[in-house]
Amino acid sequence: MSVSSYPQGFMAEEHPPSVDRVARSLADTGLPHPLLVEAARTAIAETPPGQVAERARQLAEITARSLLTGVINATGVLLHTNMGRAPWGTTTDLTRYTNLELNLEDGQRGSRQDRAPRLLAQACGAEAAMVVNNCASAVLLVLAALAENQPVAVSRGELVEIGGGFRIPEVMAQSGAQLIEVGTTNRTRLSDFSQAITKQKAVLALSVHQSNYRIEGFTEAVSVAELATLGVPVIADIGSGLLDAACPWLADGPPAWVANEPAARQTLATGADLVTFSGDKLLGGPQAGIIAGRADLVAACAAHPLARALRPGSLIFSALEDLALAYLARRGDDIPFWRMAALSTESLMARAQAINPDWVTETSAMPGGGTLPGVEIPSAGLVLPGDLSTGLRHNQPPIMGRVVNHTTVLDLRTVHPDDDQVLATALTNLVG
Ligand SMILES: *Cc1c(COP(=O)(O)O)cnc(C)c1O
Repeated sequence: MSVSSYPQGFMAEEHPPSVDRVARSLADTGLPHPLLVEAARTAIAETPPGQVAERARQLAEITARSLLTGVINATGVLLHTNMGRAPWGTTTDLTRYTNLELNLEDGQRGSRQDRAPRLLAQACGAEAAMVVNNCASAVLLVLAALAENQPVAVSRGELVEIGGGFRIPEVMAQSGAQLIEVGTTNRTRLSDFSQAITKQKAVLALSVHQSNYRIEGFTEAVSVAELATLGVPVIADIGSGLLDAACPWLADGPPAWVANEPAARQTLATGADLVTFSGDKLLGGPQAGIIAGRADLVAACAAHPLARALRPGSLIFSALEDLALAYLARRGDDIPFWRMAALSTESLMARAQAINPDWVTETSAMPGGGTLPGVEIPSAGLVLPGDLSTGLRHNQPPIMGRVVNHTTVLDLRTVHPDDDQVLATALTNLVG
């Protein structure tokens, strides 16, 4: 850098500090040396020498904060897309080898698809299931495996885009299946589907849950039960991943707000041949896509070359296995999503009171994750004057709240009770 490029008033005698010296002075941040070198280089290039040390430290701290880390979600959005949807981990020690593809009975090669998918199939009453990376992969694989180069009938009202650019027509095109749009945007009848099958030789009927979208008024849709009379396999992309509408894993049964959500068990029972759903929406698990239903169709999906490209690793299978076991044991309280969803407003009020009685407020939580649009879950938390979001975000651990009309609202439904004290301390530090 030439001396003349320094800002006015800067002493030309002062040389820019060496990259290495600045980088070494940041060693206490715990970041690997190459990242500190990067921070040092950037600081030297963009700051006068006198401010380099401070700027380099700031950049290193920004880098450290940008790494994947645990966050306290006080937004009240149970499945927050920006915070990894459902919170869920695994108890298996994966720093050791596992039996991922090993059958310990006979010592032969086993399949990663034999454990968690089998347990999930059992939990939703399916003959068989398999797991891929997400629900988008599940739909892609089903269509590629069962309808490549063949027509598939879909209602025009269900050619939707679901959060993050998942568009049904585009996924269909990628799968190689030919889209036959039937009906109109607001009304589709069974006869529209049967014509697509008899005249255009559609080999599958695809039903897509509208998830984050709703058409109201003069509408008519074809139910899965009706589609099941058509004589071609019915694929229901239910997306949200509610396993069973009866929620037998919850002591008090299903919360009122899940009433209109399609569930895997009931959708299969009413005639779907396959259902596809996400692992990290109402299932409350890791990012994954589940294909469940008829064993011969699941086997056809598993045999398709794309199955290899879309398969998850042991982290996901292990997390899903824990989750499926919790469902089968009806331990809804061990599934954070369901534990938080089922909390009483009174218990949340009591926690808010314990933090600071002056800040207590009623709030509205929501399912989120592109599911159940418009659904509000009565909740409770804290409200403080002003926008505290930056300070909260830079807390260790970071805290995410909502800013509403120049106030900061923290919903306790999505906060683990163990974090109440962390929240209280952060707030006290911010407001003095
Ligand atoms: C959310 C959703 C998807 C996409 O699921 P991902 O797991 O995010 O890939 C697909 N279909 C429906 C109906 C959905 O609701």
